[in-house]
Amino acid sequence: MDTKAILIIAALIVIFLLETVFPHYRGRRDRVKHGLPHVITALLNSLITKFALVLVTIAVIEWGKTNSIGLTHMLSLSPTAELIIVFLFFDIWMYFWHRANHNFGFLWRFHRAHHSDTEMDTTTALRFHPGELVLSTFLRLPIVLLLGMSLGQLVLFEVLLNISTLFHHSNLAVPEKWDRLLRTIIVTPNMHRVHHSIEQFETNSNYTSLLSVWDRLFGSFRTRKDTLTITIGLPVFREMNYQRLWGFLVTPFRPG
Ligand SMILES: [Zn+2]
Ligand SMILES: [Zn+2]
Repeated sequence: MDTKAILIIAALIVIFLLETVFPHYRGRRDRVKHGLPHVITALLNSLITKFALVLVTIAVIEWGKTNSIGLTHMLSLSPTAELIIVFLFFDIWMYFWHRANHNFGFLWRFHRAHHSDTEMDTTTALRFHPGELVLSTFLRLPIVLLLGMSLGQLVLFEVLLNISTLFHHSNLAVPEKWDRLLRTIIVTPNMHRVHHSIEQFETNSNYTSLLSVWDRLFGSFRTRKDTLTITIGLPVFREMNYQRLWGFLVTPFRPG
């Protein structure tokens, strides 16, 4: 197992235990039954990544490097400055990609499988449809190329992104004053709970993945005083079968 996988699994276990002891929404039962389809999905997604997507990504990065394509090849910056610039631009891309997933019907069909979870916790961070994974991997390739991103920078961004995603999906009861302080910089659980609200005007807000500044800058930042009263999920796909693995996998192909 590589370092990236070890870090993500360790973060998952730590956050899962913390949210079990300090839950925001109480009364969650059958947490293993709820999380198991998400873990199986993550395994399936990691197989698709390992045996197909990563090979395409490496080929594109190598081609860009050989032909000196992209921002990092044009600017001669120190490795730290380069990393910061690449991360900022890639985080902006992630923001607009997420926003596109909510605005375009075809993309929403896949992304709604993530939103149909009615009991969000840290394992929801693993609940991404393989179709969304494939689409996002291919559509980000031009951005990787334009930025002249190295494989190391991309892997580091993914580790940070995964840990951030595990944290902001968690059911951890972060005190509001800490949450408020943290969300001046990063996405927090209270911020992302609003994004998973059943109310469409709330679902269509708080799109950012790492830094909260993009939502503030592009006018999609939204908070809610009492996040405990949020109904998590979508108005549709609330039945138990959509919470199981098969129901989740067929969600994009169902009407609604
Ligand atoms: Zn979303
Ligand atoms: Zn989410």
